[in-house]
Amino acid sequence: MPVQALKPSLYAVPPDARTPPRLLGGRCRCGHVFFPMQTYGCEKCGATGDALQPAALPATGTLVASSRVLMHARKDREPPYVVVSVRLDDGPVVRTLLDEDTAEVIAIGAPMRGRLMEVGRSEAGAALVDLRFTRVS
Ligand SMILES: [Zn+2]
Repeated sequence: MPVQALKPSLYAVPPDARTPPRLLGGRCRCGHVFFPMQTYGCEKCGATGDALQPAALPATGTLVASSRVLMHARKDREPPYVVVSVRLDDGPVVRTLLDEDTAEVIAIGAPMRGRLMEVGRSEAGAALVDLRFTRVS
């Protein structure tokens, strides 16, 4: 079955399910790594243009914050779910959902890795996947 990224500007679908997803970030010539890719300017040195190059960032990092959501105003977001902020090994912090709902407190600094979870179907029948983080045990 074909697989399609829900947010193709943020991550690429790997060729097989065993390969972890890569986040579509960028790297400045000064060494600063950022996510998502942008060309407005480096947050650290202000460089623009060719100084900013795309960089595929491994979706691995450590937990910096989490919050379990029990109520949400939007009806298309069914709680409960857990929002996590993960500092990637390359530096940028990414906020997305945990791949499971849990009332358990996850320790700050816990190792995390990204995975693509099916969240729906496209009109053409492809599996739509979105980035989630999971605990590394
Ligand atoms: Zn820079």
